[in-house]
Amino acid sequence: MALRDIHLLGSAPLRARSAEVPVVDDLLRQFIDDLFETMDAAEGVGLAANQVGITQRVAVVGVEDDRFAMVNPVIVSAEGRARGEEGCLSIPDLHAEVTRPERIVLEALDREGKPYRRELDGYVARAVQHEIDHLDGILFLDHLSLLKRELLIRRWKKENKGGSLIRKVVPEGKRTR
Ligand SMILES: [Zn+2]
Repeated sequence: MALRDIHLLGSAPLRARSAEVPVVDDLLRQFIDDLFETMDAAEGVGLAANQVGITQRVAVVGVEDDRFAMVNPVIVSAEGRARGEEGCLSIPDLHAEVTRPERIVLEALDREGKPYRRELDGYVARAVQHEIDHLDGILFLDHLSLLKRELLIRRWKKENKGGSLIRKVVPEGKRTR
């Protein structure tokens, strides 16, 4: 397993529509393990492949003990509306309230390539929708009003002074601060 570098706002893969995964093989499983490891090291609750520069429809989610991979995920139905705070490993330190469907039905392939279907609600449903958005080149900021979005992006640019498009993930224990 290996930690991957995380792409930051402004990097092209974040705005790409990712391609369907043709086959779930050992290489993809290794990549999924890398996604989990990188998500954990970065202390996130989800990570999509294009956030590490790979434009394929793969993402991982980890909300408390509920950890799963999604290959070629599709939301087959959605209902209700819920508002909740979101952040993103590709836009560190920026948070905003986002309105999304409250309950979803997810269909995807797991790490073994086996199809599954899950009914989700609450925070994990939010995380899944956030990750699937990534695979379509959509960021949580896109759900905000134009005004709010521009304000946040301006603030983020000011804080991300170097203008770096890549973030090195440092595992816990090796951090200097
Ligand atoms: Zn994100």
